[in-house]
Amino acid sequence: MSAPVDLIRADLRDFAGYRSARSDRLVGDVWLNANEAAWPNAADDGGVRRYPDPQPETLRTRLAALYDCRPEQLLAGRGSDEAIDLLVRAFCTPGQGAIVITSPTFGMYAVSAKLHGARVVDVPLVDDGRAFRCDIDAVADAALASNATLVFLCSPGNPTGDIVPLDAVRTLAERLDGRAIVVVDEAYQEFASAPSAITLQAERSNIVVLRTLSKAHALAGVRLGVAIGDADLIAVLRRCQAPYPLPAPCVTLVERALADEPLATTRARVTASVRERERLAEALREAPGMRCVYPSSSNFVLARFDDAQSAFDALLAAGVVVRDVRAQPGLGDALRITVGRPDENDRVIAALVGAVA
Ligand SMILES: *Cc1c(COP(=O)(O)O)cnc(C)c1O
Repeated sequence: MSAPVDLIRADLRDFAGYRSARSDRLVGDVWLNANEAAWPNAADDGGVRRYPDPQPETLRTRLAALYDCRPEQLLAGRGSDEAIDLLVRAFCTPGQGAIVITSPTFGMYAVSAKLHGARVVDVPLVDDGRAFRCDIDAVADAALASNATLVFLCSPGNPTGDIVPLDAVRTLAERLDGRAIVVVDEAYQEFASAPSAITLQAERSNIVVLRTLSKAHALAGVRLGVAIGDADLIAVLRRCQAPYPLPAPCVTLVERALADEPLATTRARVTASVRERERLAEALREAPGMRCVYPSSSNFVLARFDDAQSAFDALLAAGVVVRDVRAQPGLGDALRITVGRPDENDRVIAALVGAVA
């Protein structure tokens, strides 16, 4: 197996990044090395006079325990959106590099690639009319043919809700060894019953897994997501990252949220969301004009309608805003509906089962 860091852009191999005042491990009790203010702001009740620790040890340890990996395998950043951007910047030479995506999929992979001048090669998911499936052979062929250094798999998929089986991820990583990193975006993993691709990392070092606190953990506002992968690769991503990526109040809140009690509540709410997802999907299958409600391993359902516009309008008229995904390839008749609380899902069911002609 070759080392994943060998796939880093040639011009970044010796890149040290910005050395902040926090980079040097110095000891003292009068800190005059970062041009911080001498007195706190009058409105500061959270202790934010100083620049924050770039990767706080406690935070990293708790996240590593949560995701069952070693702390040095994990980079915390401003949502998994930042991890996507860092990966593209570290592995794609501007104006030359390429990534592979499998549409319909999460939009940020292509956005980051475009901003960076990297080519986007699309190997669409295969829709058999009942579920979406990733054609792993075609993805591997496309990655090799285009010299792509990153392949983005979204599992559970957004907006499709499907799972890429671990065997397929393993096969793909094997075929792309020494050629590309397989990034598995598991933003919705908590809602799935299949195991995480983190469990494959011991055998395949070219797999990076993205996780986030934005969905199951109900912390979208704190912007905390992680990349988990080979420790040397993670160290390179850290050097490409902003000097102080994690705001101190966010870190404090996340550390509290990862204590036993809030975690137990989170797990119970995920279970409730999964139950509601199945109830919502089942009810929607009975809606008039419903073409298909896809099976979902996430916290939303994707549905195709005879007339998606009137379904969207009926929901809006009832005060319910859902995601119109009709602009996505292959989804010209589809809407994505996030699973809400039971009363919210009842509103969706009432609007669609009663009103769609
Ligand atoms: C929501 C979402 C993200 C973004 O997560 P953040 O951590 O909030 O940046 C990443 N990937 C997918 C597939 C998502 O749906």
